[in-house]
Amino acid sequence: MELLNIKNLNLAGKKVFIRCDFNVPMDEFGNISDDRRIRSALATINYCLDQNCAVILASHAGRPKGEFDAKYTLAPIAKRLNQLLKREVVLAKDVVGEDALQKAQNLSAGEVLLLENIRFEAGETKNDEALSKKLAAMADFYVNDAFGVSHRAHASVEGITKFFDNEHKAAGFLLQKEIEFFGKLIDKPMRPFTAIVGGSKVSGKLEALVHLLPRVDKMLIGGGMAFTFLKYLGYDIGASLVEDDLLEDAGRIMEEAKKLGVKFYLPVDVIAADQFKEDAVIKIVTAQEIPSGWMGLDIGPATVRLYREALNDAQTILWNGPMGVYEMERFARGSSKIANYVADSYATTVVGGGDTADLVQRIGLDNEMTFISTGGGASLELLEGKILPGVLPLIIKED
Ligand code: AMP
Repeated sequence: MELLNIKNLNLAGKKVFIRCDFNVPMDEFGNISDDRRIRSALATINYCLDQNCAVILASHAGRPKGEFDAKYTLAPIAKRLNQLLKREVVLAKDVVGEDALQKAQNLSAGEVLLLENIRFEAGETKNDEALSKKLAAMADFYVNDAFGVSHRAHASVEGITKFFDNEHKAAGFLLQKEIEFFGKLIDKPMRPFTAIVGGSKVSGKLEALVHLLPRVDKMLIGGGMAFTFLKYLGYDIGASLVEDDLLEDAGRIMEEAKKLGVKFYLPVDVIAADQFKEDAVIKIVTAQEIPSGWMGLDIGPATVRLYREALNDAQTILWNGPMGVYEMERFARGSSKIANYVADSYATTVVGGGDTADLVQRIGLDNEMTFISTGGGASLELLEGKILPGVLPLIIKED
């Protein structure tokens, strides 16, 4: 898939509106705890500044309710951008109000303006045309570099593209890289290609599982979703997470894997807990011996060994979804062991965004992976084979 390329735009000395994804996690003190998404946008911003552009940046953060809410101000983002870009970043008081419009109008070459949280405008998530038009009127060019939100048809992501022709809009470097990486992964992976899929539920990843199955050589299942498969096979899974309405789908996926010759792995043991709590009583049990009333909250040591064996020959590893309830330290071990193994391997290693990216970053292995996506939901939709609404208007050639 070929996207409109920022390098083909005649940007010199013009005003550029860049939609970024600065939706970064904050700690309890209000500090940015992971600025990867901000750092990932620097290439595009610096490129525009080097073209002597005036740069208007827009992003959302959190889920404000369509009006100003000090809790969600982009002030900390402006500060971090200031440090990273080593130049002043002016924060507007609003999105398309008097302050933003005036500042955007007076913006000179080499200056950077950050609009306030775009979701302070109710029209953003409604893809409101009037809002898109006001945003578009601020600049000569539009660049989308917000991969993490490109699966949303929002005013600053999708609607705004209608106000620029192909000579005046493009994908930024980050968006380009994400789309290329996932495209290559799905269409031309180095084999053997092994997918590790975890997380809470089958329902959230059903379409991705179905789309991935004919493309991979092995699929390793972990997390809460494993229990729906195990239950289908007739195991007694105690009080573990299960989706009874998806038992048939789980069966169909395993049947399809067999037909396609894909090796489909399920956990052989689990860390079982008597309650969903950090201080629960825990036992390591085989998948066949989960005591009634107990729940599997992580994969066990035998599964870790098995999965390491299965990953041994992989040339490409895609990982989406944790192996257990990694937010609680006692159920994070399975994910952490697998993360270390994936990081050590010589395979091309791709981590879907969201929880898996968070866990890899917490363990400090983020620099060891080949590619960590900046978008959880967006990368999942790519794995489902969908074309993202924010990307669609920027496509010049489909594969
Ligand atoms: P997802 O958003 O579907 O990728 O799921 C991520 C969530 O799955 C994390 O918050 C984990 O705590 C949760 N999770 C992983 N394993 C289990 C499990 N065995 N039981 C319940 N929740 C789990």
